[in-house]
Amino acid sequence: MADYDLAIIGGGLNGVSLARDAAGRGLRVILFEQGDLGGAASSATPRLIHGDLSVLERRGFWRVRRALAERRIWLAIAPHLVRPMRFVIPAHSEERPPWLLRAGLYVYDGLTNRGGLPPSVTLDITHHPVGNALKRPFGMAFEYSDCVVDDSRLVVLTALEATERGAAIRTGARCVRADRTDTWRLAVVDRGHRRAITARALANATGGWTPMVADTVLRQP
Ligand SMILES: Cc1cc2nc3c(=O)[nH]c(=O)nc-3n(C[C@H](O)[C@H](O)[C@H](O)COP(=O)(O)OP(=O)(O)OC[C@H]3O[C@@H](n4cnc5c(N)ncnc54)[C@H](O)[C@@H]3O)c2cc1C
Repeated sequence: MADYDLAIIGGGLNGVSLARDAAGRGLRVILFEQGDLGGAASSATPRLIHGDLSVLERRGFWRVRRALAERRIWLAIAPHLVRPMRFVIPAHSEERPPWLLRAGLYVYDGLTNRGGLPPSVTLDITHHPVGNALKRPFGMAFEYSDCVVDDSRLVVLTALEATERGAAIRTGARCVRADRTDTWRLAVVDRGHRRAITARALANATGGWTPMVADTVLRQP
């Protein structure tokens, strides 16, 4: 019998989320992160929990709606981590017309239950504090709600929840080889010590390293 049901390589947001989810379903999970949790792309994000307003321009209504539903869930389950924030888009004649911005935000507001976030509003920024920070003279702007999060804390707290559900999380542990036979056999340099474990399934959640790990670490028949 394999030591674990699932071994995960990579402790970014994708790896730890997978660990949390799989451990919550009762699987025996181990995750190896070569450096620190969230130390790569997952701590260099826009830090937004948002529906991605720009997707509306490409008519991605369902995608935005799903993302806004996720935003509402995050606000409900992690109010200590996810903070509402107001954003301002100044209107300018050489850019998107004001009616388009207004209509887009109207749709953005309406695509989901906002979970208590205030709706978008039109601002006259000629004499508004928002206008003081802008170089060009803007007359009108639109203010709307989204959320921000500390991305590194999100990764670490997700990993913590994964461990509470029984996952083993190893930092400073680099997977150097993974051979697939009837199970996966992993060789890991774990804080200077080489160790071997077996797992029924393997997830390569190494973000930007994914192709390199697939080429140089994974060995499949
Ligand atoms: C709050 C937040 C907001 C975001 N917003 C956006 C957005 O608006 N738009 C967008 O496009 N994306 C967004 N993202 C996604 C983000 O930009 C990254 O794409 C994502 O965080 C990548 O996560 P990852 O786990 O795949 O990779 P990474 O965070 O890079 O993690 C991969 C990990 O694998 C480890 N690793 C590599 N090789 C090995 C090995 N051999 N052994 C052990 N470990 C190894 C690395 O050390 C690294 O820590 C957001 C993410 C967050 C958290």
